[in-house]
Amino acid sequence: MIASVHLSYGAASALFIQKHLSLRFKRESRYFCAFFAGLASHMAVDAWPHWEYIQTGSKLWATLLVETLFVSWALLGASLGRSRLVAGIIFFGMVGGAVPDLSLMIWDKVFFWEPLLYFHFVTHIFHGILPFFTIGPVLQVILAGAAIIYVQLKSA
Ligand SMILES: [Zn+2]
Repeated sequence: MIASVHLSYGAASALFIQKHLSLRFKRESRYFCAFFAGLASHMAVDAWPHWEYIQTGSKLWATLLVETLFVSWALLGASLGRSRLVAGIIFFGMVGGAVPDLSLMIWDKVFFWEPLLYFHFVTHIFHGILPFFTIGPVLQVILAGAAIIYVQLKSA
């Protein structure tokens, strides 16, 4: 899936699970759960067969940068006027949603450390396995938009 889907579903799933957590959970525990909810959302949405970026090299990096900045603005903008706790939950959900793909990029371009590669493989164990239709670029943008709206409307 494209970065917009992973970032937005990471944030949305992080917010979604909050009401299912114990009321005794403190800020750090909620951030921890938000990260893993984002991570799980990455694995879940990547299970659908999907279209990937067709750009490579600097065009791909430029696309990722613009997309990440825009979606971060849309998601974290949703936390303006909310508590620091909610902003943190959204942020850690986004990080959890991005880190499975980010680990491969870091391994490939920055730091050749094999555990990063293993982490990428483990978090992509269900990649494209569902026998459904392929989700194309337009549907991915619509799905990301729906998740962004959910984050903007949802209170933790
Ligand atoms: Zn992925």
